Amino acid sequence: MENNNIDWANLDFGYIKTDYRYVCNFKDGAWDEGGLTTDDKVVISECAGVLQYAQTVFEGMKAYTTEDGRIVTFRPDLNAERMENSARRLEMPVFPQDRFIDAVVQTVKANAAYVPPFGSGATLYIRPFMFGSNPVIGVKPADDYQFRVFTTPVGPYFKGGVKPITIRVSDFDRAAPNGTGHIKAGLNYAMSLYAIMDAHRQGFDENMYLDPGTHTKVEETGGANFLFVTKDGKVVTPKSNSILPSITRRSLVYVAKEYLGLEVEEREVYLEEVKDFAECGLCGTAAVISPVGKVVDHGKEMCFPSGMTEMGPVIQKL
Ligand SMILES: *Cc1c(COP(=O)(O)O)cnc(C)c1O
Repeated sequence: MENNNIDWANLDFGYIKTDYRYVCNFKDGAWDEGGLTTDDKVVISECAGVLQYAQTVFEGMKAYTTEDGRIVTFRPDLNAERMENSARRLEMPVFPQDRFIDAVVQTVKANAAYVPPFGSGATLYIRPFMFGSNPVIGVKPADDYQFRVFTTPVGPYFKGGVKPITIRVSDFDRAAPNGTGHIKAGLNYAMSLYAIMDAHRQGFDENMYLDPGTHTKVEETGGANFLFVTKDGKVVTPKSNSILPSITRRSLVYVAKEYLGLEVEEREVYLEEVKDFAECGLCGTAAVISPVGKVVDHGKEMCFPSGMTEMGPVIQKL
């Protein structure tokens, strides 16, 4: 399989159909043997649980080509574990973690021609997901489910250099106290669409969501966790049970502590203290780390000393 038609450097974060995807069905209380298919279409009842009551969870990770030409994925074991937690919270059957990893490996191997070359900046994004597939009209969990994994090549996040973004403190909430903010479910994104479009209409790149209980503490954005750096070089990341536990953040915290010898605090972060930080970034599989230059709280601007043209030094190192 060859793929010479894709201009890796100019890809967006968008969907490009690749050759194979993995499909496995849950019926009569068990997952079938599953396997690869070339069919990208899903045919389900108009009354499927996912269509009526949004019973669906997903994951996201990337595959890369190494310098010596191997293809590797980043910590699929942690995505498998997180998807198990997401499924349990939505009363869905668990797709076994070892099978999840096998499905990811099979799908990436089958689409090896779409894994961008080393140094291109592009990656193969991997999307595992699961949904209730049989008719459900009374509110209850579906009986049948489908698990799928597809891949799509995505471009470098920082096309034409890094540009720090401006975010606003949102009046909307992302997650309810004791709700579903900590799981990767489509429902968390459906309800964030209005808030992100509203932010864009007002000229902001992203929303900073606060804790839904008191609106005094920093949570995260619609799809990425926060990292802050104090003026004395400490890395601080918000802790809350309604934040989606980012695998990228987990790795960056490890890198900060173990490789860079930095002090790291995972703790509640008050909106009040944001103005005192030296650097701010957003982290996630898609964003890697995106520098934040400015946070605007209802007209009050908080500008980080790292400025609006470059990444701060600690974020850059990370
Ligand atoms: C997926 C996601 C992240 C980032 O998690 P990674 O595992 O680093 O990709 C952060 N916040 C939300 C709300 C997410 O859905």
